[in-house]
Amino acid sequence: MSRKLFTNCHIVDVNSRTVTPGAILTENGTILQAGPDVSGTADEVIDLNGQYVMPGLFNCHTHICLPPDPAVNYNRTDCQITMLALDHLRQFLNTGVTFIRDVGGVNFIDIDIRNAAAAGKVTAPDMQVSGKCICMTGGHGWQMGREADGADDCRKAAREQLKAGANWIKVMGTGGVMTEGVEPGSPQLDEDELRAAIAEGHKVGAKACTHSQGMTGIKNALRAGVDSIEHGFYMDDWCFDWMKEHDVYYVPTLAAMYWIKVNGISAGIPEYAVRKVNATFEDHLSTFRNAYKAGVKIVLGTDAGTPFNPHDKTAYEMILMTEAGMDVWDALRAGTITAAEMCGVAKTHGSIEAGKKANLAVFAEDPTRNLETVMDCRMTVLGGEIVYRK
Ligand SMILES: [Zn+2]
Repeated sequence: MSRKLFTNCHIVDVNSRTVTPGAILTENGTILQAGPDVSGTADEVIDLNGQYVMPGLFNCHTHICLPPDPAVNYNRTDCQITMLALDHLRQFLNTGVTFIRDVGGVNFIDIDIRNAAAAGKVTAPDMQVSGKCICMTGGHGWQMGREADGADDCRKAAREQLKAGANWIKVMGTGGVMTEGVEPGSPQLDEDELRAAIAEGHKVGAKACTHSQGMTGIKNALRAGVDSIEHGFYMDDWCFDWMKEHDVYYVPTLAAMYWIKVNGISAGIPEYAVRKVNATFEDHLSTFRNAYKAGVKIVLGTDAGTPFNPHDKTAYEMILMTEAGMDVWDALRAGTITAAEMCGVAKTHGSIEAGKKANLAVFAEDPTRNLETVMDCRMTVLGGEIVYRK
């Protein structure tokens, strides 16, 4: 039995939306007590000098197998990709991220690493993974995905991911930015194909997410039963009403488009990618604002692994979301408790409460007053262990 007392800190409570002085007592990786009146003995006392403790952050749209190079390179060996992925996971930990949902891996490396981490052989954030994305032949992500055509083949493709151990099914509903020759607005997998893959996941309790940017593909995916919309450049009130009624989450990944826009062609990003982002950037932001106003549940994901979108800037998505009009508490919740709800882990993750896993991120200042502080993590605690300290 190992008890740690994190004392002399401020607790950022994303449930009550309050920041209060207090302490956190953990036992064997679980939060035993948290608040102003913590009592009991500990084997180790960690004085946090008045700093601010958040629940460990979530990044719910990552690609650990892809580095943030200007152009995508699909010519790496599995060993090279694994080395990159392990480095990316370390970057997450060093920036307060203790949970990721990876939505598009290469050769099941994401699944192997998740299993190794669960077995204690690798130190990594808690992970849910999708295996390979399922796309139509020549569709967005085909270079690393599982190409599938027709409902039967999509069903089989989903079964392959589940057999390998995927937690989520990732389906490509439209074209995308980083694949040459496809357009964000064009639908890709058809509704019956999406439905077949999504239903296969639902049979075993695995949720499904869709890369979908244009409205037709988004509506196909929603009608097909998808659980989260990734990117979502174009959505109307019908989409928002459906999402609220069916508990569908929105992961806008504002950072992905932002980094492409601010770096541009001169930094080496392919012309086709910059053109597609410039053509949709403002529409994406207004869709984000409309979704937020409509009360759609919004979750933090950055799409880390796209151009200049590194694995150590998860929290920047919160800054972009607040700049686009989101309340700071809602942004903090998007990266913690709302994310935990989407991933089905809110009983154990996403807030600082007795009984939950001791995943914590420590920042120097009050993030509700100075959100920039989330870009400078001082300490990360994973399952009660300090895995990063500045
Ligand atoms: Zn992505």
